[in-house]
Amino acid sequence: MRSGGPRAGVGLAGRGALVGSGAAIAGWAPYRRSVRRRRLAPLLALLVLAGCGRDLGDPDAIARRLEAPVRFAVIGDYGTGDAPERDVAALVQAWHPDFVVTTGDNNYPSGAAETIDDHVGRYWSGFIAPYHGRFGPGASSNAFFPVLGNHDWNAPGALPYLAYFTLPGNERYYEVAKGAVHVFALDSDPREPDGVAPESAQARWLCEALRSSPARWKLVFLHHPPWSSGRHGPTPYAQWPFQACGAHAVFAGHDHDYERIQRDGIVYFVNGLGGSTPYAMQRFPIQGSRARFYGEFGAQLVEADARTLLVRFVTRDGELVDWVALGADAAEPPQ
Ligand SMILES: [Zn+2]
Repeated sequence: MRSGGPRAGVGLAGRGALVGSGAAIAGWAPYRRSVRRRRLAPLLALLVLAGCGRDLGDPDAIARRLEAPVRFAVIGDYGTGDAPERDVAALVQAWHPDFVVTTGDNNYPSGAAETIDDHVGRYWSGFIAPYHGRFGPGASSNAFFPVLGNHDWNAPGALPYLAYFTLPGNERYYEVAKGAVHVFALDSDPREPDGVAPESAQARWLCEALRSSPARWKLVFLHHPPWSSGRHGPTPYAQWPFQACGAHAVFAGHDHDYERIQRDGIVYFVNGLGGSTPYAMQRFPIQGSRARFYGEFGAQLVEADARTLLVRFVTRDGELVDWVALGADAAEPPQ
């Protein structure tokens, strides 16, 4: 089921439009000046005059206040080699991020050695080191940090993935510290030898690593969503005590949609719109769901300094869908 053009797979637009908090958000974005924004301008002026503060509701203003932030992109469920993946890669490259993290399913459908360079390197080689594929020289140092998805594990032992990438630790789950951010990449597939349950060796490693990290922002990445209002829904075995161990946010994929969920005092994201066909979402969202979207492909831009973490989801057309800021400038779109 390969898509035929750059807009293929977007038949869900409209029905996939924002539910819940999203509808008014696009108008706040600088990415596309909308009629909505012009209509909102007098209201915004009133709010500011009324003392509602220093444009706290504007993610661009929050971004401008960041001091020497680390900036990275998050892509999920992207590894098709098709036009939507190409468009998302172009969006991400235009951000000039310091690095890219994935939420898995890097190489559809079977994680095969024969397809991995077409489905990853074709668009992302500029972030990968060492890179030995067919699409240019690669990066000088590695700036691509994937997690394993179920499709990557469809190849026995996930061997093509493990051969293709050179990653820290045991390469299946690992940590990377960058500026104010500490990335913890997990393997949530049940084929993981060290286990995926809350009491597994992998979970014990994570909790210890989170607790010993001095980073301001501790961010966990895995494929199967602990919480989700998408087609697959929540993954009970992946509901580890992330908050108790010190995580600030958890990023997952697997459901081909975007969702932001406030739960247990931290924020959970689902980001699976990197290139594979979007999924419609369930009619009734789970508890804590703040924003849901499946109408277009896109990626997250994450920016963080020692005070604030800002996360935005943007479509391949440059439309801001949702955002949240944690820390000193904590804010989110109006509900
Ligand atoms: Zn998956």
